[in-house]
Amino acid sequence: MGDYCITSCPAKCCHVGKLFISEATVKKFNLNATKRPDGYYDLVIEGGCPLLKDNKCTVHKDPLRPSMCGQYPFFDRSAKVLLASSCKAVASGMFTQELKKLDDAGVKWDIQ
Ligand code: SF4
Ligand code: SF4
Repeated sequence: MGDYCITSCPAKCCHVGKLFISEATVKKFNLNATKRPDGYYDLVIEGGCPLLKDNKCTVHKDPLRPSMCGQYPFFDRSAKVLLASSCKAVASGMFTQELKKLDDAGVKWDIQ
């Protein structure tokens, strides 16, 4: 979403909840994250992700950026694609074209 996320939201999704991230991401960015039983790590971002500066992601183009961030606000579940209702861009109907492509491909989706 680029500029929209910076100027209109701003970076709301980088301020709430937590990310599931790889060990490689933890090490590369020296993050204070908690290891999970499945080998991934939890990074709590309540109040602001440590990789956010002036409401911009400082690792946006890095291949080790958390994969969740690259997919957001889409979540690929086995039965359907979910979109985050808390995302302002989703609520504003900015993904109409992407959703039409899913419809055309016969992929089920929902906004939750
Ligand atoms: S919540 Fe949605 S609109 Fe807001 S910054 Fe995140 S992706 Fe962009
Ligand atoms: S890694 Fe970047 S996009 Fe992901 S939550 Fe942190 S600042 Fe936002």
